[in-house]
Amino acid sequence: MSKNNERYGLLIDYDFCTGCHTCEAACKVEHKLAYGQWGIKLAQDGPRKLENGRYEFVYVPIPTSLCDLCEDLVKVGKFPTCVAHCQADVMTYGPVKELAKKMADKPKMVLFAPR
Ligand code: SF4
Ligand code: SF4
Repeated sequence: MSKNNERYGLLIDYDFCTGCHTCEAACKVEHKLAYGQWGIKLAQDGPRKLENGRYEFVYVPIPTSLCDLCEDLVKVGKFPTCVAHCQADVMTYGPVKELAKKMADKPKMVLFAPR
């Protein structure tokens, strides 16, 4: 989505994503998506056994082509519903340029600009 000629997106700190699926459900309810349709979908990598014997799970929610960055909510000053409902507070909405700067602060982040 563009606002003031600026592209907006979602920054996801997947280091701390718990894989709870709440973002998927919140988006689906907000946009009244039919069975099998998703605005955002969780990808899972693992479980993978690490050298220390522990297991690693990695989850990354990926916006689909149905994601409109919650245009109607944003217009009235609200956050996108996936961001508002994320249980681990790992999703940030904002101008892509600002979000890209945040990515310099830590690893294991992804930036999506679906519109
Ligand atoms: S920004 Fe809105 S439309 Fe896009 S994935 Fe999140 S809840 Fe769904
Ligand atoms: S709501 Fe947040 S913690 Fe849960 S799966 Fe989505 S991004 Fe990960």
